[in-house]
Amino acid sequence: MSRREFTKAVYAQIVKRALHPKHGICCEGCGLVLGAKPYHVDHTIPDALQVDKSRKLTADDGKLLGVECCHKPKTVEDVGVIAKAKRVEGRYLGLKAPKQKIKSPGFAKAARAEKTATKIMPGYRALFAPADQPSEVGK
Ligand SMILES: [Zn+2]
Repeated sequence: MSRREFTKAVYAQIVKRALHPKHGICCEGCGLVLGAKPYHVDHTIPDALQVDKSRKLTADDGKLLGVECCHKPKTVEDVGVIAKAKRVEGRYLGLKAPKQKIKSPGFAKAARAEKTATKIMPGYRALFAPADQPSEVGK
């Protein structure tokens, strides 16, 4: 379903609510005095996560947030939360195919490890074997 937007009347209510009599418009997230700084009216609960969208949005559904101080960080967080909610819902409804197996053959670990060992190790035992014991080299 589409995203519900605030009506002009509700939007005005929210802006009025955020309007401090002395300092002007303040961020409802952190209380920063915004002055001429840009702000957005944010959906307190991201609209994508609302199940019941038949109800009209009211001033209580929105918050006036400064773009830099609160709205940008919240949007980033919301995008992650919305994506997760969609994945969970998809899995619940069985819409998503199960995870696919990795198709590449992978690495031949055992063979490679042996090869490396023989390259590095020749004569190793002979070098560190005690002098009175017979060396394995030349057997
Ligand atoms: Zn803020």
